[in-house]
Amino acid sequence: MDLDRVRASVSAYEHDPDVTTADVARLRFFEGLLELQQGRAEELARKAPYELPAGLDFVSVYRDPRQFVLGSAPVRIDAADFAQTLASVARYVTAGAGLGEQAAHAIASLDWDAVAARADLALAGADPAAFVEAVLGAPEKLGIPAEVPGGLLGTILVSALRPHLQPAAEVIAAAYSKVEDPHGYSAPLDCPVCGSPATASWVGDAAGTSGRGRKQYCATCGTQWDFDRIRCDNCGTHNEGHLHYHSVEGDPGHRILTCDECGGYERVVFQEDLRHGPLVMEVEDVVMANLDQVVRDPRFKASVTTAKATA
Ligand SMILES: [Zn+2]
Ligand SMILES: [Zn+2]
Repeated sequence: MDLDRVRASVSAYEHDPDVTTADVARLRFFEGLLELQQGRAEELARKAPYELPAGLDFVSVYRDPRQFVLGSAPVRIDAADFAQTLASVARYVTAGAGLGEQAAHAIASLDWDAVAARADLALAGADPAAFVEAVLGAPEKLGIPAEVPGGLLGTILVSALRPHLQPAAEVIAAAYSKVEDPHGYSAPLDCPVCGSPATASWVGDAAGTSGRGRKQYCATCGTQWDFDRIRCDNCGTHNEGHLHYHSVEGDPGHRILTCDECGGYERVVFQEDLRHGPLVMEVEDVVMANLDQVVRDPRFKASVTTAKATA
């Protein structure tokens, strides 16, 4: 993650008259979280650099839609290190989240050393999405009381995993960029590095494409990977007639792609329609949080401008 680009992007939104004061406050909050995550990622990368096992054909694993690289070459997550990351992320998130007294007290009194010691960190380093799902399904197994809201716990877990996974994702991206024809494969739906579902995607001037390529972005580990221009990230359909782009209130830079086949949707950034750059997916993810609320609103279908996915 490039913090200079993060700061430039947040600053551009801050000076955008169409961005509300509340959204600016949210962007600043996440900018601070990204700084914390990046600082921690650099510390962890120095302490225990990730290496791809010499005997592993990681390219085949990367390109196999049924596999992902960490599944074969996991990140080793140290319990004391993870506890430290959890504690600092929890402190930051709790301070800025405007929690009720009970929830704030429950978080503040958590013993993150005990939580990390009980957690299945082998799973966290090999299949982070499954790890988060397992913890959220039974937080009491790690000694996390029911007073800690599930949404907040999920945010803390995913945000704390990123500094541990990102250095590995960067090593894998650098190694993958050197392979012959890195763009010549059928892209997987989920992250080829950590197996998490895509967080969002962007269409624009992506490497290896003729100006209008599409890339998926994984917030869990930070990986971006090539994806078909016309395709549902959820069910994988290529059926143009079933995929529709919607833009909201004159902001064609941030669109919702819906799929009639599975009922899923994805948030997509259109680089050429952004009011300002630079395009930083970590920031765009925060900017597009509003789109999730739009999709859930029953008036969604009636209120948006719809265009075919080819537009
Ligand atoms: Zn990932
Ligand atoms: Zn679909």
